[in-house]
Amino acid sequence: MTNLDPRFLRTQGYINGKWVDATSGARFMVSNPADGTQIAQVADMGAEETREAINAAHEAFPGWAARTAGDRSKTLRKWFELIVQNADALAALLTAEQGKPLTEARGEVIYGASFIEWFAEEAKRIYGDVIPSTGADRRFIVLKQPIGVVGAITPWNFPSAMITRKVAPALAAGCTAVVKPAEDTPLSALALAVLAEEAGIPPGAFNLVPTSKAAPVGEAMTSDTRIRKISFTGSTAVGKVLMKQAAQNITKVSLELGGNAPFLVFDDADIDAAVEGALASKYRNAGQTCVCANRFFVQDGVHDEFAHKLAERTKELLIGRGDQPGVQIGPLINAAALTKVEHLMADAKARGAIILTGGEPHNQGDLFFTPTVITNVNPDMDIANTEIFGPVSALRRFNNEDEAIALANDTPFGLAAYFFARDMGRVWRVMEGLETGIVAVNTGLFTSEVTPFGGVKQSGIGREGSKYGIEEYVEIKNVCLGGI
Ligand code: ADP
Repeated sequence: MTNLDPRFLRTQGYINGKWVDATSGARFMVSNPADGTQIAQVADMGAEETREAINAAHEAFPGWAARTAGDRSKTLRKWFELIVQNADALAALLTAEQGKPLTEARGEVIYGASFIEWFAEEAKRIYGDVIPSTGADRRFIVLKQPIGVVGAITPWNFPSAMITRKVAPALAAGCTAVVKPAEDTPLSALALAVLAEEAGIPPGAFNLVPTSKAAPVGEAMTSDTRIRKISFTGSTAVGKVLMKQAAQNITKVSLELGGNAPFLVFDDADIDAAVEGALASKYRNAGQTCVCANRFFVQDGVHDEFAHKLAERTKELLIGRGDQPGVQIGPLINAAALTKVEHLMADAKARGAIILTGGEPHNQGDLFFTPTVITNVNPDMDIANTEIFGPVSALRRFNNEDEAIALANDTPFGLAAYFFARDMGRVWRVMEGLETGIVAVNTGLFTSEVTPFGGVKQSGIGREGSKYGIEEYVEIKNVCLGGI
């Protein structure tokens, strides 16, 4: 195993600026998905520690909110710089607990840091308004104020960036936060806290509650009236649970949930570019992102060429431990993830899918699956209706543009969509017709801190990143100033 920097290998929770064990003394194991070895035993916290963290965040809130925007901005900027300076060590830790190739892990650390830089800048631009008055004796003013204590729950597939994407705008706006990282990947989160502390983020402003039992922590957050906002990234099923719980106190929610991204290739596309886009979108993090291409639809005239070229390029992908040079596909996160992909493949095969390459687990280790391309997919297959979260490209044919848009939209989800086409009229029609929060045209990669990320339908509520992302963490106050 790569040597991990002991400075960042923290095993306690981080509450009120202190590193603390669970009150019960319980711990849970964090393992390396590449070989199942133990990396650390982390404090296994629960509702009690969550309440302590909320107490701390609640107490820290007025002081943090009262600082000038410039002051909060400088502190966030310092955090950003420290993360960038330590990117290699953070990436090694991320690969160890999550499995993704080191280059991707480093990319995530930098991408995650970019939200802190961005919102450090946005902190200074949270403008209110003065509205022209309807009466001579009064004036109308709109204030934007921090919403309060934020509860954030994050997934394992981006253990660093999903935290910064929530915590940076929260802190920038003047909010404080309690974060529950995913049970598979708490170490990257704890490492971020090491640097937050060093950057001067005050005790209580950013708290981390690691746990192997998510539900009681989620309940402690959603049932507490001091939590004014829940920001969640994860599955649609858990998003629904949290939204229901948040309804008790009408707590605001931002939800970034599952996707089922269509990837459309039209007859007029540049096929080589479409293949490169497909590789980039499909196989990032071994297929384990909510914006990975999930359903490929390819027009009749180019179907065979695209399928053949994609299969050839897929065969070339290097599979292995994420800490080995040149590796492009690491392990899946855990045994349940592998079982799911195996089930989807078995079902697809039984219902007539044709395997062009892959189709089996890979002998590199217990959690590896061979990058796969299948064709002849039909709507009865589970793989056509499920977020795969593994390195499997599942291809269907289509005949015309209207059919393609209808197929792409025929899902309860609406996060990202991709399509490749050159005809300008078609590009506009398809872009407008897709029911998703994000559309990538002639590219397989689109994420950036400067653009809004989020979904429609059952893929979520709200947007993260960009100038829109800060809005999730402020309340609008309408002030009517009379007696002028
Ligand atoms: P995934 O399928 O990606 O693991 P989950 O939605 O299960 O997605 O997990 C995303 C995050 O939600 C993780 O931090 C997980 O611990 C947390 N989580 C899972 N169940 C609950 C729950 N009942 N309440 C609160 N958080 C939960």
